[in-house]
Amino acid sequence: MANPHASDTPHWEAAFEHYYQDRMVDAFEEISEHGVGEAGELIRWYRIIEAEAMTRAKSSVLQVAPWLTLEFVADETMGIEGELGERTLQACIDVAKRLGWEHKVPTRLAILAEVTDAPWATNPYGYCVSKEPYEKICLPNYLVDDESEFSQAVAHEYAHVISSNVTDDYAPRWVEEAISVLVERRFDAEIWEQFRVDPSMWLSPTDLEVMLVDRSDDDGTKEEIWMAYQQAGWLGRYLSTIDGVNRLGEFLHEIANESPRINLVRTLKGQDRTDSALRRVFGMGKAELFSRAYSWVVALDSIEP
Ligand SMILES: [Zn+2]
Repeated sequence: MANPHASDTPHWEAAFEHYYQDRMVDAFEEISEHGVGEAGELIRWYRIIEAEAMTRAKSSVLQVAPWLTLEFVADETMGIEGELGERTLQACIDVAKRLGWEHKVPTRLAILAEVTDAPWATNPYGYCVSKEPYEKICLPNYLVDDESEFSQAVAHEYAHVISSNVTDDYAPRWVEEAISVLVERRFDAEIWEQFRVDPSMWLSPTDLEVMLVDRSDDDGTKEEIWMAYQQAGWLGRYLSTIDGVNRLGEFLHEIANESPRINLVRTLKGQDRTDSALRRVFGMGKAELFSRAYSWVVALDSIEP
């Protein structure tokens, strides 16, 4: 028997095309009537598209900086959108400074409408998507009520904008999260304690990557996923303690380094991009980083920076 939902496929294809142009109302129109048959597999995408489209239907846009716009629902931000724009800008400036980045990629920060039920379970503080007109950061509406959480979430997502652009998307997810969680500064004392008492909780590079990329909390692993984010953050924090001006930024640049000599060395030594960049910038490979960072984490007296 043929796929009973095969007729939905063209609608999903069209929806994704609109999605990456950020034509959200058109995107949702494609799937709201026709795509439901496939929503089983694509339910997460369905929710994302729905959330961004419902927001678009009633949103306004504020130009915050030449490269930065804020999309918000006026009834819900109730007059503080100017302040939210300033807070967003400041958080982006801080992260950019830390990573040695000049804002050049157009960026849109969308505060999603209250009614939307985007997949916050796996991305509790938001997500970031590279679209054609701009890098789009979407944050849940509840963050508006908490000034510091809002800025932390912006910092986390803007760090993704920077790392994915600097590395041409070559960085593994754990490297991106290492930097995003580091700049977000949301370290969890209980998780830190768990790492200290049980070394087996500290994952290898491969297992950490799998946990960050492939798992969804449908598997009932929400706690494990959170722990993986925390581990990534600790790796970033450890790297940030190694002296040297802007080594994290340099590390990201080195991951994307395409010089023939570097390519040759990588090939001859059988190193992957991250391992090779780590060795050149920090003088240690992946395995060594993971074990050194772990020793450093367990030896700390407190999680305060
Ligand atoms: Zn992240």
